[in-house]
Amino acid sequence: MSGLLSCNMNDSWGNVCQPRQVQSTLNWRTDVLPAADKKLVVGNRRSYGDVCINDGGAIIDATGLNRFISFDKATGLVRCEAGVTLWQVAKLVVPHGWFLPVTPGTGFVTVAGAVANDVHGKNHHVAGSFGCFVKKFQLRRSNGDELLCSESENADFFAATIGGLGLTGFIGWVELALKPIEQSKMAVESVSYSTYEEFLALSGESEKTHEYCVSWIDCLDKSGRGVFFRGNHADEGGLDADLDTSKRSVPAVVGAGFPLVNRLSVNLFNAAYIRAHSGNRQYTETIAKFFYPLDSLLNWNRIYGRKGFYQFQCVVPQENTEILTEAFARISAANQGSFLSVLKTMGTITSPALLSFCRPGVTLAIDFPNRGNKTRQLLLALEELVMQAGGAIYPAKDATMSAATFEKSFPKLAEYTQFVDPAFTSSFWQRVNT
Ligand SMILES: Cc1cc2nc3c(=O)[nH]c(=O)nc-3n(C[C@H](O)[C@H](O)[C@H](O)COP(=O)(O)OP(=O)(O)OC[C@H]3O[C@@H](n4cnc5c(N)ncnc54)[C@H](O)[C@@H]3O)c2cc1C
Repeated sequence: MSGLLSCNMNDSWGNVCQPRQVQSTLNWRTDVLPAADKKLVVGNRRSYGDVCINDGGAIIDATGLNRFISFDKATGLVRCEAGVTLWQVAKLVVPHGWFLPVTPGTGFVTVAGAVANDVHGKNHHVAGSFGCFVKKFQLRRSNGDELLCSESENADFFAATIGGLGLTGFIGWVELALKPIEQSKMAVESVSYSTYEEFLALSGESEKTHEYCVSWIDCLDKSGRGVFFRGNHADEGGLDADLDTSKRSVPAVVGAGFPLVNRLSVNLFNAAYIRAHSGNRQYTETIAKFFYPLDSLLNWNRIYGRKGFYQFQCVVPQENTEILTEAFARISAANQGSFLSVLKTMGTITSPALLSFCRPGVTLAIDFPNRGNKTRQLLLALEELVMQAGGAIYPAKDATMSAATFEKSFPKLAEYTQFVDPAFTSSFWQRVNT
């Protein structure tokens, strides 16, 4: 039986959608899906925009499906329910010499959420996206069909559901191929740089020697200064999971008030961050610190106050990446942007997903405090630049892209649409599927 229905205002991570939606919960894989004809199953709602929102419809929270089904310590195959988080997976498998093959910048996402957005991590240049490691999953459709999906079984649903934005049905469990590791500590190097061209050179050189590469940039500095981080699993340190999650949290009262993020605070933070990371530094750190630095402060999204924030993430092809310098200039001139601005390159490994965002090029992700129309105008200008460059915008982070942009960015959209479950929808889908 599904849980009690109730009306709520549960938002996504950016807190800008403010939906009116009916919520229910799933606690068992055999629970009957609510009969609503406009439903969406969601995970931990770490998506920033409206892919995990269903304004005017029903959302079904699957985080109660948090059990492991099997873990083969010899082969590194793990099967778990949809709502198991990547933190939970890491805690179970790291002490046995395995790790997530791909992980985004937070461990609080669920495995089904990671499948549905075909998420990527700091190792895209050598590993590809999360979907490249999904071996099998169970998909339940609203007509009662229960499909086992893999590259050889229901392969069409397999390709449509990975990166499928939760619209092809309810994922009950996922089987994932893990990555072997010998040590859990990370050997890291940070290198400061002054221009976007230096970032490109550092990426090119570091990707030959380092499994994980990512860069923080000062989004208010027109020249594109930043700090490049590159890392490998260390040669020593043992297999200590060392994955305790933080108990520090931003209080709810901050989230109900005015934003703490403004030009002054961003400038002060960015200058201090650059100073702290000047030159070249080498150190070792835990998996938790390296992969999930933001998870050390729970509910950090509350610093954006009651109006919330948007995240803009795009990818532009390598040959047109100079368009990003124009993007930095516009962001700086608009006096917007935040501490959290990330640049990284994506490699050529293709995902099995029909709708994957991941493709070769440079990806830029920036948070913007929600200043209403002013912010939406800037997002529109950035969207136009990305379209001129032949790039794409990431649905997991998006709350504003147009239907035309979505269609242009995902060439296999028409093929994918045939697999959408007729009883499933989302606010994102209602916006882009016109
Ligand atoms: C701090 C932070 C850092 C991040 N860093 C990255 C990054 O580096 N790379 C990256 O790619 N992403 C990143 N993200 C985005 C995040 O990884 C994705 O949005 C992810 O999909 C969120 O998973 P979730 O469990 O919270 O799912 P939700 O946000 O709740 O849902 C995401 C999608 O999954 C679908 N879904 C969830 N459960 C099911 C199910 N059981 N059956 C069918 N569909 C389902 C939903 O319908 C929705 O379409 C980051 C997010 C945060 C907050």
